[in-house]
Amino acid sequence: MLSYLHAFHAGNFADVQKHAALTLALVMMQSKKTAIACFDTHAGSAIYDLTSERARKTAEADAGIHHLWSLRGKLKSPDWQPMVELLGRVNKGSDTLSLYPGSPAWLANFGRPGDAIAAFELHPTEGKHLEAWGEKNGVRVQNEDGLNGLLKCLPPAQPRLLTLIDPSYEVKDEYGQVVKTLTHAWKKCRHGVFLIWYPILTSGLHQQLIAGVAGSGVRKVLRSEVMLDQPPGRGMVGSGMLVVNPPWGFDQRLSDMLAELEGEARLGLSASLSWLVPE
Ligand code: SAM
Repeated sequence: MLSYLHAFHAGNFADVQKHAALTLALVMMQSKKTAIACFDTHAGSAIYDLTSERARKTAEADAGIHHLWSLRGKLKSPDWQPMVELLGRVNKGSDTLSLYPGSPAWLANFGRPGDAIAAFELHPTEGKHLEAWGEKNGVRVQNEDGLNGLLKCLPPAQPRLLTLIDPSYEVKDEYGQVVKTLTHAWKKCRHGVFLIWYPILTSGLHQQLIAGVAGSGVRKVLRSEVMLDQPPGRGMVGSGMLVVNPPWGFDQRLSDMLAELEGEARLGLSASLSWLVPE
């Protein structure tokens, strides 16, 4: 039984880190002309209403995308620009953000005609929204388990691969399942770029994922983390992203972007970036 709904969390600090890394990876990969197969294994419902009761209940976007949006004229890294422009387009040029794109919408908006985008979503209601949106936006939607679904599609027909793995981790053994899937997927497509999001938890459960990937044999794994400066006593205190086979120079560019979120006047985060597994 799936109970997680991303509408409560859309646009929070973790989404800012996740979608910054996703957009940067895709834009950098597109510096070469060859087509990219993009997979989103846990896609959610694509577009979120930041004014909805669910979003306002947690108000998580206030310290996330709303705050970033208020800084948009002052951001120094040019790599924020594609995100800022897309947010402006989605919100039809309004000064206030009321809509926030989820991962399949970031992929669809930056995808080129030759790129292919497939999104998996298991939750029945989320899947229905996603399917209707996917039909209008050129995204192939499958209502099935995203980890198994990904493996069935590899290697893709396109020469290059970008995959986002972003589970809700409602089930404890999802950390182990992600490690197994990544290892298997990487063996099928060793040049693929894989982004794996994880929550940083006071319980330390996410360490299973970090240790599992570090010992899996997968090479060239970057680890990006942002920690809340004033974390709650329990639960999620930070957001992490592993990036397998990042494009050359991605580490410095992502680091420059996330450094702009640090400090009290920014998003109240501390960002770090290191190689979990070198080449
Ligand atoms: N990737 C989205 C984004 O960045 O906008 C957010 C995804 S949310 C963290 C995780 C989603 O995965 C939820 O919508 C949940 O219903 C879905 N989900 C949970 N288990 C799944 C599975 N085994 N296969 C596919 N989707 C799943």
